[in-house]
Amino acid sequence: MSYQAEYIWIDGTKPFPQLRSKTRILADGKTPPIWGFDGSSTNQAPGDNSDCVLNAVFQCPDPIRGGDNILVLCEVLLPDRSPHPSNTRASCVATAEKYASSEPMFGIEQEYTLFKDGRPYAWPEEGFPGPQGPYYCAVGFDNVGYVRPLIERHTQACIDAGLKIEGTNAEVMKGQWEFQIGVCTVPEIGDHLWVARWLLERLGEDYGISVSFDAKPIKGDWNGAGAHTNFSTNATRAGWDAIIAACEALGTKVEEHIAVYGEGIKDRLTGAHETAPWHTFSYGTSDRGASVRIPWQVAIDKKGYIEDRRPNANIDPYQVAERIIETVCGAAAAK
Ligand code: ADP
Ligand code: MN
Ligand code: MN
Ligand code: MN
Repeated sequence: MSYQAEYIWIDGTKPFPQLRSKTRILADGKTPPIWGFDGSSTNQAPGDNSDCVLNAVFQCPDPIRGGDNILVLCEVLLPDRSPHPSNTRASCVATAEKYASSEPMFGIEQEYTLFKDGRPYAWPEEGFPGPQGPYYCAVGFDNVGYVRPLIERHTQACIDAGLKIEGTNAEVMKGQWEFQIGVCTVPEIGDHLWVARWLLERLGEDYGISVSFDAKPIKGDWNGAGAHTNFSTNATRAGWDAIIAACEALGTKVEEHIAVYGEGIKDRLTGAHETAPWHTFSYGTSDRGASVRIPWQVAIDKKGYIEDRRPNANIDPYQVAERIIETVCGAAAAK
């Protein structure tokens, strides 16, 4: 029997790329071949030279269609098979290979905001819901609305696809949620996160709910949406000195990191709402107002991982992982 392969790729839309996908029916036993698309419709090519190439880099069972059907995450190549300018995965892979002996691992907490009828999900038609306080990790219709069917289905879909989803929770702003992906190698962290994002947007269609990865979807006294990036190497997993060295290294490259930590980061990292101001750098144990937090368990064990709290919900995980590896592993290698 033939099966369906959903080819998924990241487009060239600025400032935040859009996920795109199309379906290919393949004969039983045939592996997904290289494919192409019209880059002039995805901000990836001019109309007079529009062909872009899809190269399969990660595949998993399609948890929505079931059966033998699969999801195929692709990187975008130019017709000469070199990486397209929008393809950030290729250089991420190269950097990860360069520092493979450090065995970097990542876990990302993906926050996002659900929208229906142009406003955050379960917000009143007029005005605002009650102030923040009861919504984080909440239960109950007044707090979360009728949204569990989507959350539950997305979580199960990630599990069925074999993605390394670790958990979910309702967030501080009403209508905002989080799922975590980890602990992953590189580029696995980016592959799993992008497919989990695609599944969320795709399942949202079934419920008439849309997904926003905007870093500050509602201005004012409402939390922004981040993508806390947790990171370790074989050295930080072995001892405290490497934890401190990693924090110190991050502090030497603030501008370089902020540059890839997501569009609108200066609006989100204001110093309020559990953030540190974007232009400063600080780290501390259990400190949710610091740029980088050392989790309490790590401070007790004197080894483990650190949490960079700065990345926005709208990051490209390939760029963030590459930047962190370059800074932290680069500094360790230079010693
Ligand atoms: P919190 O909300 O308290 O910041 P979460 O439970 O949401 O914490 O997320 C913890 C994150 O830490 C997860 O994404 C997980 O993958 C990550 N993590 C745990 N151990 C490691 C490790 N050794 N290296 C990298 N990331 C890790
Ligand atoms: Mn979390
Ligand atoms: Mn969170
Ligand atoms: Mn966190």
